[in-house]
Formats: sequence, structure tokens, C-alpha cells
Amino acid sequence: MIVVMKSGTPLAEIERVSQEIRSWDITPEKLEGTHKVVIGLVGDTAEIDPRQIQNLSHCIEQVLRVKKPFKRASKEFRYGEPSEVVVPTPNGPVTFGQNHPLVVVAGPCSVENEEMIVKTALAVKAAGAQFLRGGAYKPRTSPYAFQGHGESALELLAKARVVTGLGIITEVMDTADIDKVASVADVVQIGARNMQNFSLLRKVGATLKPILLKRGPSATIEEWLMAAEYILAAGNPNVILCERGIRTFDQQYTRNTLDISAIPVLRTLTHLPIMIDPSHATGFSEFVSTMAMASIAAGTDSLMIEVHPNPAKALSDGPQSLTIEAFEQLMQEMAPLSKFFGRWAKNDSATVMPKFAAKVATMAGV
Ligand code: PEP
Ligand code: MN
Repeated sequence: MIVVMKSGTPLAEIERVSQEIRSWDITPEKLEGTHKVVIGLVGDTAEIDPRQIQNLSHCIEQVLRVKKPFKRASKEFRYGEPSEVVVPTPNGPVTFGQNHPLVVVAGPCSVENEEMIVKTALAVKAAGAQFLRGGAYKPRTSPYAFQGHGESALELLAKARVVTGLGIITEVMDTADIDKVASVADVVQIGARNMQNFSLLRKVGATLKPILLKRGPSATIEEWLMAAEYILAAGNPNVILCERGIRTFDQQYTRNTLDISAIPVLRTLTHLPIMIDPSHATGFSEFVSTMAMASIAAGTDSLMIEVHPNPAKALSDGPQSLTIEAFEQLMQEMAPLSKFFGRWAKNDSATVMPKFAAKVATMAGV
């Protein structure tokens, strides 16, 4: 249930209403939006009559019941205002959110050695990425496949962070590793296979670390939002949703199906920022750029692109990894499209390919 206070309601009145609600064994959560204060009611509100709340104060504009099973993740919980996940990085804070420039996350599937991770980090930074993403702990289908270098890879990520100032994103698979991973990562990734690992979700929810929650390979949108709800309910509001392709019947030409419709659908359901991962979604480097562009057009807040200095020799996910050169080209191609939608960082110096810019302008009729 959501209590919307009228603009300009004195703080003391908001407090008085909250106190009253607390006396009914319901937890009031105050959310200060740009224009209004909203109080989210957390607990068993089934028996509460909205009129009972409305009568508490003449400063209450509206009382809404959130009918969806996800409450804190719901769009209503913030009264339609998109949330922002602000991540402090050595290069300055980066904000994920609907009213902010596109955030580009890039890097190899796995951290393989110091030379490759530092080289990749420097290259993706020069091309305009804000985050380096690399796996230390890898969720692999086969127990015999390369599982990641673990702790030593975390040290290499820390080094790449110092050298480039980029924010670091890396996955945690085990609750026992959360502190270790969080000490290096600026954003902690929960991989697709762990989307419904509820004890892991609760534990990362007990931190304030920004969490990148990948969609499970066969998860419905509601299951995904309920997984986000676990993190939010545990007290961590910093959740970014990442669509990475859903299970497909095609076994040959695409690894997954990128559910691009998840972007507009999520916009109707949640305030949380959205990331798209076209690398895992397609499984082949040649399709990554098209799907990245489509994701920008559909309104994604962020992109995650796998980049490797030598994809043919990659220890994991080589076929879907872009070379450094291909990533640089993609960044140049994304700039005009992103600028067109008002989502390109203003201080970004990435040059716009004149031919591509002209094509976008023609398509857009400008
Ligand atoms: C990854 O990000 O490298 C990864 C394993 O992704 P996912 O969890 O989406 O399969
Ligand atoms: Mn990967």
C-alpha cells in the first residue's frame, strides 16, 4: 500500500502519519521523490481499509493498493519516479537510471591474467566505457570447464581499477565470498543461474552494494522482479536489472533470445534501472552490435558487452566476445544513436562516424 502525501506537507505531519501506521504493526518507508513524499506500507496490509488511512490526515493526497506481488520493486512504490543507482568509482560517480546517460560496461567473460585484463581495461576505458566487467568466479555448465581464477582474479581486477579508475563489476556465486567480492567490486553481479538463489539474494540485500541482477535463463518477468524484491526487502535499494537473453529452442544460430520487449514491459512495472547484455543474449560476436543498437532504441539504461583482446583464445565465451577494435567501432556507432535519444554522456569525446551519423539522421528524418 502506498500513501501519497500532498506537496508541501510539513515533515512533522509525515512523521505523525508514519507513527500512527507503525502502531498498527506496519512498517512505513518514506520515499522522497522530486515533488512528493510517498510512504510505502510494508507488512500485512490486506485487512487495512484505505479509507482508514485517508482519514489520518488532510495532507494525504491518495492511498493506493499495490496489487502486484512485488511491492518495493513496483513502479507504484516510487509513485512512477524512476530510481537511480549511483555508483562511486575512482573516475567519479556513475548513475544508472532512466534520466541519465547510457552506461557502458565492458570486459572479458573471465579474468585470465594481468596483462589481458589491464590491456582490456585500458582499451575499453579509452573507447568510453565506465565499468570493467570480468569474472573471477564463473558459473559454468560443466564442472570440468574453466571455473575462473577466483581470489587471484579479484586482485587483478583491483589492479585494473587502480590503473584505469574504472568501476569494477564481477559476479558472486557463493554467500561465503560476498565480503571478498564486495571489497573489490563497485557493483556485484548475481548471475542468471543464481537469480533464484534466495539465500544469496538475502545476503547481498543486507549490504548497500549496488547489485546487478541478471534474469534467469527461463525466468518470467514476475519471477525476476520477485528476485529483485528479495534484495530490496532485505534493505538494499541499489538494484539494476540485466536482461541477458532467455532460453530458446534454437540450438544452432543463437545462444538465447534477447527479450528486447522486456525493456518497455519493465518500464510499466518497475522503477529499477535496466541493463541489456547482448553478448550472452546472442552468443555470437557478429550479432552483438545490432542488438546493442536495438536495445538503445528500445530505451535501455545500460549495456554490458564482452570484450577480449584475442577472442579465439578466450578461456570462456570467446565466440560472443568482441575484439578491442570491434568494441571501439561499436562505441563510435552507438554515439549518434544514443545522442539522438538524449542518452549519451555530454563530456564523452567518442567521435561520431560521419557516415553512420548521416544514416541515423536520415532514418530519424532530421
Ligand atoms: C557472465 O556474465 O559472464 C555470465 C556467466 O552471464 P549469465 O549469468 O548471464 O549467463
Ligand atoms: Mn560470459
